[in-house]
Amino acid sequence: MKQKRFILSEEEIPRYWYNIMAEMPNKPMPLLNPATREELKAEDLYPLFAKELCHQELNTTDPWIEIPEEVRDLYKYYRSTPLVRAYGLEQRLRTPAHIYFKNESVSPMGSHKLNSAIPQAYYCKKEGITNVTTETGAGQWGASLAYAARLFGLEAAVYQVKISYEQKPYRRSIMQTFGAQVTPSPSMSTRAGRKILTEHPNHQGSLGTAISEAVELARTTPNCKYTLGSVLNHVSLHQTIIGQEAMKQMEMAGEYPDMVIACFGGGSNFGGISFPFMRENILNGKKTRFIAAEPSSCPKLTHGKFEYDFGDEAGYTPLLPMFTLGHNFTPANIHAGGLRYHGAGMIVSQLMKDGLMEAVDIQQLESFEAGCLFAQAEGIIPAPESCHAIAATIREANRCKETGEEKVILFNLSGHGLIDMASYDKYLAGDLQNYTFNDTSV
Ligand SMILES: *Cc1c(COP(=O)(O)O)cnc(C)c1O
Repeated sequence: MKQKRFILSEEEIPRYWYNIMAEMPNKPMPLLNPATREELKAEDLYPLFAKELCHQELNTTDPWIEIPEEVRDLYKYYRSTPLVRAYGLEQRLRTPAHIYFKNESVSPMGSHKLNSAIPQAYYCKKEGITNVTTETGAGQWGASLAYAARLFGLEAAVYQVKISYEQKPYRRSIMQTFGAQVTPSPSMSTRAGRKILTEHPNHQGSLGTAISEAVELARTTPNCKYTLGSVLNHVSLHQTIIGQEAMKQMEMAGEYPDMVIACFGGGSNFGGISFPFMRENILNGKKTRFIAAEPSSCPKLTHGKFEYDFGDEAGYTPLLPMFTLGHNFTPANIHAGGLRYHGAGMIVSQLMKDGLMEAVDIQQLESFEAGCLFAQAEGIIPAPESCHAIAATIREANRCKETGEEKVILFNLSGHGLIDMASYDKYLAGDLQNYTFNDTSV
């Protein structure tokens, strides 16, 4: 066995985030004000987000955006994350493919989410903001934001999707350990929540309902900003630290990926690992394939429509041009809570439309089967979300076995599943089922 793990020195950690919007063949269509249908300017977003983040959101000209030194210093607590050659998995599959994964599960919060939570909290603090609010599904984003808020002395209020609040009690305790206030959504504490509960008293919540509540809180509380863990352009921007590191690490391994694969909720870990490599396709004629793996029960890229839609249930957000299943869509209660979002980020939606990437949908049982195989082969229990990327990787590796091709596959291990063992319990007991996207449950 040749070298298995590739790690960068602190010196080699990237100093810039990569803003693919500056180099895309077609830029995303603009965000629109829902009332006037006019194009939004950065100032229009100021009431919601820290100013610097508003500018990053709409920046379509600068390909490189400097990572503030304070943020980079905090990244050093867990970065670089290892790039690992999955020899164990290759052997189990008897595939000629070379499989690598970027292990984002080693962050203190166990997922890639901290990569954006740190800069979001940093920019809020720098502007004199005292409170931040957000939504969370399975709780990975809420946990990351709660920790990042603590690092900068901000108060955090988190709306957690009710079904996850109940299914994943330890994520709630993690957020509370860091001092965040956690409320299950929909709740009676906001107008949006009360409206949803009046119409659907048993509503189990979705990211859409939780976003509405958090946005409302930010709008009605002085000195409070909203933060988001996925979907938006500035979130994918921060996540490009993953792909830039991976690029240097693949170079250390002496290989270049034929395929880059990541699971897909709103697109941030997919964009994070893909965009630096996609730059090589756009500018330098490389032919890497980029594959987003989404759940069959929430398949916006493979079954959604490209149109302007709201980012939340109540219609508080700007109109976003994206692949969407409709902002009122409530996905089935699959255990990959982080993938239960109705829309895809604007950048990724445009890239999909332009044929620069592909998407596949994965059933719940296939995802857990893949996760268990990976765990046995590599000793890491993957997050239910990440299991989708692994399942897509296994499909491609099996294809290589049929054709005898020695392709190089890189996938992102977006998080570990150690706090999701209740989901694995259900899978192992045979209590999980597949859902198609018509099987919605409210
Ligand atoms: C949130 C989350 C996802 C999905 O979000 P993206 O923005 O699509 O990356 C995937 N994996 C894990 C572990 C997550 O926490």
